[in-house]
Amino acid sequence: MAPEIRRSGVQLSPGAYFNFKGDKMNLIFLGPPGVGKGTIAKEVVKEKNIPQISTGDLLRAAVKKGSELGIKAKGYMDSGKLVPDDLVIDLLKKRIKKDDCQEGFILDGFPRTIPQAESLEGEAKIDKTMNFKALNETIIQRLSGRRTCKKCNAIFHITNIPPKVEGICDKCGGELFQRDDDKPDAIKKRLEVYQKQTAPLIDFYKEKGILADIDTEQPIPGIVKDTLAAIG
Ligand code: AMP
Repeated sequence: MAPEIRRSGVQLSPGAYFNFKGDKMNLIFLGPPGVGKGTIAKEVVKEKNIPQISTGDLLRAAVKKGSELGIKAKGYMDSGKLVPDDLVIDLLKKRIKKDDCQEGFILDGFPRTIPQAESLEGEAKIDKTMNFKALNETIIQRLSGRRTCKKCNAIFHITNIPPKVEGICDKCGGELFQRDDDKPDAIKKRLEVYQKQTAPLIDFYKEKGILADIDTEQPIPGIVKDTLAAIG
């Protein structure tokens, strides 16, 4: 078990201690859908004690709830298009104001357009952007085999990360399902949308000198190691 560090009677893990010193860590995980941003973010969360904020998860929760935002977002999401900037920006701004973001956050799936990145500038200083890279055929293989838990959003893959029991989440026993937008037509659309609207963010962050390329054509532990090394 990881040793604990005591400060003012509060028990903190080593990762939290790092943050406690005031080294706020605001990170962006950038990359095409299916590259593994969510999977790697969940591993980094364990090390760094900062939350993973997935706008995709937030939007899916809104759709499930049937909220006004969910009703507006559903059609875009099902067809693999981006939800309009104003809706997502508003959602994200509210989320990063929550208490658990005081020491930093990992943005997983935001920003996805230049206007989203520009709006973020006024809200938070970004320390690093990880640019997760993979070949197109790898991405299609990852997306089409991905299975998600209905209850806890854990991510599996029919061959790369198989659950112990087929169709059942290892973590909470929830039912695994294939997202509608992980089906072939939506995958094609999402990859086109990524190239057109999101890939320009690579240069946006490169010019700021805060971009780190991460090669995801390797087993997950290696990707996690490279990501943690790039975070520093
Ligand atoms: P994800 O789970 O990140 O792949 O997101 C699933 C879907 O949610 C996307 O295909 C979009 O329709 C929508 N979405 C998630 N994040 C954003 C964003 N930052 N901007 C616009 N739409 C988003």
